[in-house]
Amino acid sequence: RIAYVNGRYVAHADAAVHIEDRGYQFADGVYEVCEVARGFIVDMPRHLARLNRSLTELSIAWPVTRGVLPLILREVVNRNHVANGLVYVQVTRGVAIRDFVFPSADTKSSLVVTARKADPAAGAKRAETGIAVITVPENRWDRVDIKSVGLLPNVLAKQKAKEAGAQEAWFVDGDGTVKEGGSSNAWIVTRDGVLVTRPAEHGILRGITRTTMFEVAASLGLKIEERGFSVAEAKAAREAFISSATTIAMPVVAIDGDPVANGHPGSVTLSLRQAFFDIAEKSPA
Ligand code: PMP
Repeated sequence: RIAYVNGRYVAHADAAVHIEDRGYQFADGVYEVCEVARGFIVDMPRHLARLNRSLTELSIAWPVTRGVLPLILREVVNRNHVANGLVYVQVTRGVAIRDFVFPSADTKSSLVVTARKADPAAGAKRAETGIAVITVPENRWDRVDIKSVGLLPNVLAKQKAKEAGAQEAWFVDGDGTVKEGGSSNAWIVTRDGVLVTRPAEHGILRGITRTTMFEVAASLGLKIEERGFSVAEAKAAREAFISSATTIAMPVVAIDGDPVANGHPGSVTLSLRQAFFDIAEKSPA
């Protein structure tokens, strides 16, 4: 495997950043994960636009000119012969003697790009049975709209899910509404067939898959309501699912051990999943 690190393509096994990289010391960095499907980097312009937003919010400089990054992503995907899988991009504030405040303006931000293969049949198989989620109290900072590499609450929540035999953890607000998953957005389908997901203006990451799902839903003639929903509403819903670049639309069949509807993947979710790739390949920046 080949990785890109700060201007060089190197063997993945030898790829390294400096021990005083601020990503390592302070989680002072941001990232993106793009799905690669049939050789196509899904929704790349939207991922790069979100990366730009994350960098801007944190005043981290672009490590390369913006127009070059798509070429690097493509090159890493090609060099690793990834037809189906993912490409990972990470930008940190760079290497400097450890100090909380920003380093001098001439410090270069660090760029790492990796790619790996995934079996597309595995996702399809998972979607046939669906996943279980647990709920956990929201304990993250209030800037989760920034796709920061500071993911410790997400790590702990997803580990707790795993130990409970589940595949995702949903962060729940003090008022009982579902925010999002540890690495995905949360959705339900009401008894009337309306999709419901929390507004992305505040308190969650605006998922790229979530954004594209609006177009997919429109193409299927489905309505979306952006509003909060409670755990109880989700359990009683017709369907529930998560969205992310790596899972697309994945049915949720159990929440905290209770079945969602009849405990089987829902047809709306599966049709969204089916229709997703056709739309994503055509979607503009
Ligand atoms: N929320 C969180 C907290 C995430 O980590 C992710 C995955 N990056 C998402 C939502 C889904 O975002 P996307 O559709 O862009 O993968």
